[in-house]
Amino acid sequence: MKIATLSIGDELTLGEIVDTNAAHIAGRLYRDGLRLQRHLTVGDSELDIEEALELLADKADAVIATGGLGPTVDDLTARSVAKLTGRRLMLNEEALAHLKRFTGVENGPLLVLNEKQALLPTKCTVIPNPTGTACGFMVIHNGRFLFFLPGVPSEMRRMLDESVMPFLLERSRHRRAVGTRVLKTFGLAEAELDDLLKGMATPEVSLAFCVSFPEIMVKLRAEGDDGEHLDWVLAQAEAVARERLRGHVYGEGDDTIDSVVAGLFRETGQTLALAESCTGGMIAARITSQAGSSAWFREGAVTYSNEAKHRLLGVPPEQIAAHGAVSSETARAMAKGARQAAGSDIALAVTGIAGPDGGTPEKPVGTVFIALATRSGCHAKGYRFSGGRDEVRTLTSFTAMDWIRRHLMSQLPPSPAAGTAQPT
Ligand code: ATP
Repeated sequence: MKIATLSIGDELTLGEIVDTNAAHIAGRLYRDGLRLQRHLTVGDSELDIEEALELLADKADAVIATGGLGPTVDDLTARSVAKLTGRRLMLNEEALAHLKRFTGVENGPLLVLNEKQALLPTKCTVIPNPTGTACGFMVIHNGRFLFFLPGVPSEMRRMLDESVMPFLLERSRHRRAVGTRVLKTFGLAEAELDDLLKGMATPEVSLAFCVSFPEIMVKLRAEGDDGEHLDWVLAQAEAVARERLRGHVYGEGDDTIDSVVAGLFRETGQTLALAESCTGGMIAARITSQAGSSAWFREGAVTYSNEAKHRLLGVPPEQIAAHGAVSSETARAMAKGARQAAGSDIALAVTGIAGPDGGTPEKPVGTVFIALATRSGCHAKGYRFSGGRDEVRTLTSFTAMDWIRRHLMSQLPPSPAAGTAQPT
């Protein structure tokens, strides 16, 4: 079944909001083995809506449109559909009853403005909206199914799930099974990942990279008629990709670096202290964004000034004078001081120049030192991150989380190698 989508609204064509509806519908279709064929966006113009519907319905079996169903003058969808399909707009009793129920005016008159939402093309099927005033509707035009849903994302999603998807799936005979594995990586550039995964794409499994700063997702996708075989093929491909990317894969699917690190703290039972300078608490915020973090997070100090580094972490002023606040030595002293003050198993410290000012020829903006103190010692490393202040701070906090992840992984007992049996 060929499916197209249409997003309606001046807010979209003026660039005031991001079209999350289009992305959501495309993803929802794909997950159920249906493919979006094409997509259009138009503003609040009756003619543009009409033309777009005509164009899309010419090639697709079904069109899903969102937006423009509200009560205001710029909500023109129902009128455009009536014109295109040669129908009249009529007060739809079902939509009116819903509107009255929803607004709590069961027996009384409705505002004329509100009543407009129940003016729908004749011979349409109402699509219930459990969470909003505007019902959706469906018309069959030249044998094509045209669906109209509200623009409000939460309302649209529920109506898509409860009404549109079941309708489409029932009518799609040649649905293919699809599968996707998402590996989340950090620390390698796209070109490096591409190089490491060279030759992995096959006619059955496609490979794609999706950059979502500062991480990169590796997506393995497969389509076919046999879902079980697909699972096996993807499992094989994932195993090969993980092997080639080694420690750079930090998680999969919906994992975040923060949730993965939280899981590792839970597993290892280790405790953490932090000493942050240029990140100003961003790492602590990541750690505490995870429920249950009080079990492993002892404390974090934002030691921005040299005086604070000395007073709270015991970094000797003469050491700062000799090497600078942004140095391997200072980072190391901060980590050791934080660990001692908190009595934690590990402590991580960061110090750097986030910019835009403060850089020198020897230590330009983006120079960052990270140190990790553990029971067995303390090591530090310097980085030269590129980008503006936000990028440098984000990269620093992500790199710090990755350091913690790698350390905690090294504390886990080795896991027995797992194999995947080919389905018979
Ligand atoms: P309403 O009953 O709110 O008037 P509607 O069907 O008329 O619903 P719109 O007025 O087009 O929908 O949009 C309502 C709100 O939904 C917009 O202000 C916008 O915030 C959001 N919205 C609309 N279209 C999209 C879209 N494609 N992606 C994300 N958000 C959207």
